[in-house]
Amino acid sequence: MKPPVETVDTDVLIIGSGAGGAVTAATLARAGRTVTVLEEGPWVDPDALEPFSLQEMVAKYRHGGSCAALGRPAIAFAEGRCVGGSTEINSGLYHRLPPELAEEWQRDYRIDEFGPEVLGRYAERIEQELAVSRLPGPPPESSAVLERGATKLGWRSVEFARVFRYESNGRAVKQTMARTLLPTAIEAGARVVADCRVARLVRSGSRIVGARCEQTLPDGTSRPLLVRADHVFVCAGATQTPALLQRSGIRSNIGRGLKMHPTVKIAARFDSPIDHGDVPMHRVTEFSPGLTIGGSASRRGHVALALADSDADYADALAHWDNVAVYYAAIRSEGSGRVIALPGLRSPLVTYQLTEGDMSRLARALVHLGEVLLAAGAIELYPSVTGGVVARGPEDLVHWWDALTRNRANLMTVHLTSTVRIGENRSRTGADSFGRVWGFDNLRVNDASLLPEAPGVNPQGPIMAVVARNSDHFLADA
Ligand SMILES: Cc1cc2nc3c(=O)[nH]c(=O)nc-3n(C[C@H](O)[C@H](O)[C@H](O)COP(=O)(O)OP(=O)(O)OC[C@H]3O[C@@H](n4cnc5c(N)ncnc54)[C@H](O)[C@@H]3O)c2cc1C
Repeated sequence: MKPPVETVDTDVLIIGSGAGGAVTAATLARAGRTVTVLEEGPWVDPDALEPFSLQEMVAKYRHGGSCAALGRPAIAFAEGRCVGGSTEINSGLYHRLPPELAEEWQRDYRIDEFGPEVLGRYAERIEQELAVSRLPGPPPESSAVLERGATKLGWRSVEFARVFRYESNGRAVKQTMARTLLPTAIEAGARVVADCRVARLVRSGSRIVGARCEQTLPDGTSRPLLVRADHVFVCAGATQTPALLQRSGIRSNIGRGLKMHPTVKIAARFDSPIDHGDVPMHRVTEFSPGLTIGGSASRRGHVALALADSDADYADALAHWDNVAVYYAAIRSEGSGRVIALPGLRSPLVTYQLTEGDMSRLARALVHLGEVLLAAGAIELYPSVTGGVVARGPEDLVHWWDALTRNRANLMTVHLTSTVRIGENRSRTGADSFGRVWGFDNLRVNDASLLPEAPGVNPQGPIMAVVARNSDHFLADA
């Protein structure tokens, strides 16, 4: 005989504990609602593992960090799978949604109460709560490089704010969700259950009455769990949210319209050692929001992978990896993709089609990135293009225009959005202006999936502002 399924009752069920789930949980729990958060990944103490290390990738990333959107070319992507979601592994860079995009989305998707003013109010709340701030001292050399190169070329650059608290002893502490809003939610009475994957939602007419889950226990065994709820928020991120909805039979405009910021990289060698501990906080914004230039995590492993992307002879550069750092250029893409849950498989199929326009924007992005790095004093540039010429001077960059083809480009992204878009334009959206899934009374999405387009800036700020707004709307409504 099968053992009885453990059953838990809650007022509000939140699935996923990242940027979307944690903001929702803290807002609702503080307002006195009974909240249960289910998170597929483990609880990892934010101080336990070295940031950007292999151990961190194994513990906190989905599939150890190697996922891909299929297409020509395929695009590697990464997302978090732990309590706190991708906020535990991101670089903490923070930006508000550009006001012109808020206006454009409000108009194109007919989103109620979505102007720059409304979002600005929520952004302010988030910024205060998460101590969004700038570096108290001068930037590290890896960041100053970008500012220096941009100034030489007469281009604009800015130091981005970050979700960091700076302690008096000089320690910079990233304010991830496991450090901030999840403890806030727990203090206000929320329950956070780690290692608990929601397999599907249980439906009764136009209501979701619960979720069927698989909980992994400390001894490695697993057990089924049924969570019954009055209200359900799916906050599992831009790939897993649509996959869960589709597995539950909810498909209308769900998983279509995936957007991302496709990204090219360069491993840049300098004639003296450069720091590798932090991610540069400067961004070259001369071409934003269509094209943004910045710096990546550059531990030894990242440097080795970036050098290998060019397929050039990089033995000498790797031997001097202390002098090498990795930089990127990301575009707003006019292409789009899909997330499709496949029967019998745990992971969805993710696809993305870049347009010809995207390919030429990426080539331009690579050349501009090369220009700024050479202007800043880099002596050798290894592009993320198989067989791409190693550039030692501006005259070499012309080769890159034709080199970045669908067969040779090595692209990646860490910004995925737009798989359950919001708005009253029902032909283009999966949920209403406040994230309620069309056709359901008590099912809401509240994460990166909701942004109707890629924001052209680091997305966690725009996501958190929209999620906080939707949470307030829910409290006023239900
Ligand atoms: C390496 C990296 C660097 C980044 N750097 C920046 C940056 O500097 N600035 C910035 O603004 N953004 C950055 N981002 C992006 C940003 O972190 C994300 O856009 C944001 O966290 C997305 O929020 P979310 O709530 O939609 O998803 P997530 O934060 O990814 O949270 C989703 C959570 O849901 C859980 N989940 C999924 N499926 C299920 C299920 N079936 N049952 C239970 N739980 C489930 C996942 O395990 C995950 O923990 C970065 C991302 C990465 C990966």
